[in-house]
Amino acid sequence: LLAPDGSAVPTIFAEMSALAASTGALNLGQGFPDEDGPEAVLEAARRAIADGVNQYAPGRGFPDLLAAIAEHQRRFYGIELDPAREALVTVGATEALAATLLAFVDGPDDEVVVFEPYYDSYAACVALSGARLVPVPLRWPDFQPDLDQLAAAVTDRTRMILVNDPHNPTGTVFSREVLDEIVRLAHRHDALIVTDEVYEHLVFDGPHVPIATVPGAAERTVSISSAGKTFSLTGWKTGWVTGPAELVSAVLAVKQFLTYVGGSPFQPAVAAGLRLPDTFFASVAEEMAAKARLLGTGLRAAGFDVSTPGGSYFTVVDASPLGAVDADAFCRELPARAGVVGIPLTAFVSPAHRERYATLVRFAACKRVEVLAEAAERLAAISR
Ligand code: PMP
Ligand code: GLN
Repeated sequence: LLAPDGSAVPTIFAEMSALAASTGALNLGQGFPDEDGPEAVLEAARRAIADGVNQYAPGRGFPDLLAAIAEHQRRFYGIELDPAREALVTVGATEALAATLLAFVDGPDDEVVVFEPYYDSYAACVALSGARLVPVPLRWPDFQPDLDQLAAAVTDRTRMILVNDPHNPTGTVFSREVLDEIVRLAHRHDALIVTDEVYEHLVFDGPHVPIATVPGAAERTVSISSAGKTFSLTGWKTGWVTGPAELVSAVLAVKQFLTYVGGSPFQPAVAAGLRLPDTFFASVAEEMAAKARLLGTGLRAAGFDVSTPGGSYFTVVDASPLGAVDADAFCRELPARAGVVGIPLTAFVSPAHRERYATLVRFAACKRVEVLAEAAERLAAISR
């Protein structure tokens, strides 16, 4: 995590957004929307500040937000939660993941099974906990895991299977067969399931199936989500954890010493967001699906091989038809060559596996339609 000169190595997102800013390129790299979320939610935060919600929130979160999280889980998934014991507010999904890993894994005898490529903080937090990362490959172009490879990765040393569905960076949505197999293996080897579902409302052919709803999963599953993606408010960094009381308590025990609490006025606003009508949530998925289709069409026209995402902000392409042999080098040149930023998939894999993903690039569709159209136009110019 540190460079030879002692400086912190920036994350790929920070690096690529800085490159976009310095070159003026269109930023289809870091996954953040270029339009803010619903006015009712923004207004609720302004009101909270005006009404004096400006001191520390309770460690677990304001009871009204905990109640709104429980209502949301019941409304969309039929999951019944006791909000006072089975829910917890965190500083984004990032803190939820860090606190969960630090709560349950400890040292080199614990193994954490992850699907590779993986969101960058997973490997970093597993490293902080001292545990061993056991990657299961997701392969181009559908990015579903091979069930035999999954079964081989999970053993009695597995403390945790870390799921991310819909998946960043690939945009894949795990098949029901995969979810069932994860639950079966977790039972057989007495492992926890930790599931990062920040893109739960960005499934294009819904409904989203939380792994916690697979029979036999709930009692060993910690579910994580966040307001960032659903409400296009990634800077609010307000997330939550749900699951059995004793598991959530263990996460809270760590979380309270990481940050104690996050920003108070965001909590009532996120509660208002979680209570928006069904039509809002349906429109979030529909709009992102339309943007993903638009981006996919543009990328295909530009000459890339394009995978079809089932959800999330992201679309992965193979850049070899455009002459790429190394996605990292390709992405570093792309701003100058085409005025567009993407992220190499090699940023999401362990060093030993870079070769497998050598020519794959992730583009984010969570941008205004005009920006996606302009990016497609610029990319098409490369091969003209
Ligand atoms: N998990 C995944 C899969 C993500 O893509 C992100 C990025 N936003 C996060 C976690 C972090 O979420 P937050 O900003 O709520 O910490
Ligand atoms: N989740 C966002 C992405 O995958 C980035 C978040 C971050 O910058 N850490 O692009």
